[in-house]
Amino acid sequence: MTFKKLSEYFEELEKTSSRLKITEILANLFKEAEEDEIGKICYLSLGRLLPQYEGLEFQMAEKMLVRAVAKAFGIEDQAVQKQYKKEGDLGVVAEELKARGYKGAQVQSLFGEPKKQILSVGEVYKRLMEIAKEKGEGSVDRKITKMAALLTEIEALAVRFVVRIPLGKLRLGFSEMTLLDGLSWMGKGDKSLRPELEGAFNVVADIGKIAETFKKSGEKGIKEIKVTLGVPILSALAQRLPTVEEMVEKMGEVVVEPKYDGTRLQVHFGRSIGGVRVFTRNLENVTHMFPEIVEAVKKEVKAEEIIFDSEGVGVDPKTGGYLPFQETIKRKRKYGIEDKAKEIPLKCYLFDVLYKDGKSLISEPLRKRREILEKAIEHKANTLVLSPQIITSDPEEIRAFHQEQIERGLEGAMIKKADSAYEPGRRGFTWVKFKQEETKKGGGLADTLDCVIMGTYRGKGKRAGFGVGAFLVGVKKDDVFVTVSKIGTGLSDEQWREVYKRTENKALKTEEKPEEYSVDKNLYPDTWVKPEIVVEIQADNITESPIHTAGLALRFPRLVRFRDDKTQNQATTLRETEKLFELQK
Ligand code: ATP
Repeated sequence: MTFKKLSEYFEELEKTSSRLKITEILANLFKEAEEDEIGKICYLSLGRLLPQYEGLEFQMAEKMLVRAVAKAFGIEDQAVQKQYKKEGDLGVVAEELKARGYKGAQVQSLFGEPKKQILSVGEVYKRLMEIAKEKGEGSVDRKITKMAALLTEIEALAVRFVVRIPLGKLRLGFSEMTLLDGLSWMGKGDKSLRPELEGAFNVVADIGKIAETFKKSGEKGIKEIKVTLGVPILSALAQRLPTVEEMVEKMGEVVVEPKYDGTRLQVHFGRSIGGVRVFTRNLENVTHMFPEIVEAVKKEVKAEEIIFDSEGVGVDPKTGGYLPFQETIKRKRKYGIEDKAKEIPLKCYLFDVLYKDGKSLISEPLRKRREILEKAIEHKANTLVLSPQIITSDPEEIRAFHQEQIERGLEGAMIKKADSAYEPGRRGFTWVKFKQEETKKGGGLADTLDCVIMGTYRGKGKRAGFGVGAFLVGVKKDDVFVTVSKIGTGLSDEQWREVYKRTENKALKTEEKPEEYSVDKNLYPDTWVKPEIVVEIQADNITESPIHTAGLALRFPRLVRFRDDKTQNQATTLRETEKLFELQK
């Protein structure tokens, strides 16, 4: 396929907001794509060259792109910058320059004189990859020159999209899930294959690989998708149940473990992937942030290849005691990694093994996986620590274990069905989190909610000093955000300042209501905020609400913390909120 054709598809997708229509366009695009193109097209449509977990970044700041555009079309940097400021979209500025016929007079293409050839998707992809991979001394200039050369060789519409990709602003407005729908439509003309495709994506979270396999080998290929070392598996997640008795009734014999309050880490190790890779729940590759884990895995794992699931928790280097989540999360950083590692060393509590020495273990019962895990780790308890556990079906024993964890300052316990398989990406009833049995104490929610900040209101009186007086939060209903609370109390002064600081970020504020927001007119905030800040909210209970678009509202909400480890896709869903509402009855 020519890149020109792909750009036409992108333009159509950009103009469309109906989910169904987007799915249809994607299905046509996928039908037209060659087998060796479809994967690349998936990454490109998400504004990337590789799956996110590969951590490939363009390392091209806005200024560099401005210089590349200027160089390509033979005009001054300032002129491009000025136009960009006015237009707000460098892709469109570059497209217009190209369309108006500025010739790349000043740029000598590194690949010879620009020929009148039409570049294919594969060629443009290859050139973008070369640009992204330029490193070291002189790489800034090389990136700019190569980008400029590429811009002179592609059509105006293609210029728009190629410029946006390194800026991280392609934003066609869909995620991997929509691409999976598109694939299903390509195969069957409807959504019926989505569960199967999603199941495969949960095991191998590489959308390009899924698309390519499906295009080449259809449903049969998808059924054969297997856990792959180096490619993250979507994390199994936990359900909620109101009482221990119900947990035992539903799951029978259970494994009970402490619920650590840190950050989920999936660790891959093996020579074929060049050592250790560490992924978060959001499929981010964070290996370089945790050097002590990398070292410990190399020394303490007794296997050629392994994937294990764990929770990383910061510990106080003096006392060895757990640090709160807010401290642990400081280890997620780009700079000053070594210093922070000394200040907040991490312990990695291992609770599951998903793969060992060429064999996927996700279908094995938890009990057996645990045995394998125990044999695969040397018990040094410095950095890699096997999570303690008991196996029981006695509610009182579970309660006692849970109470012990609370007294140790942990969040509670995780209750897992002893004979269950690992369920990638699923919030199933094989794992249940047991925080506080508050429902038994009369009232109270069984869990907190992870909401998205949708907008802010100016403050009056004391809160005017913080810059914000209240904020609107919502939960997810498919691709839409519905509101559940306008929060104006229950925050410390410091938290108010933090809310202001974060929501003031220019890149997050918008004048218009984001399309995916469903909000009652009476609740329109003074400033809309894009759905990128996730906050954990505790409430006394949930009530029915005529004005909140969730149909439910939080009573006495309090901000627990900012969930920087979560994206909008992991926000609490409306269905979960409804379940919490039911649970409190
Ligand atoms: P919460 O907001 O309550 O921490 P969550 O929404 O982040 O929960 P859940 O699926 O509700 O995620 O709970 C599972 C999370 O608990 C895991 O993602 C993991 O980070 C953490 N965790 C801590 N200890 C364990 C354990 N022993 N087994 C599994 N997960 C654990």
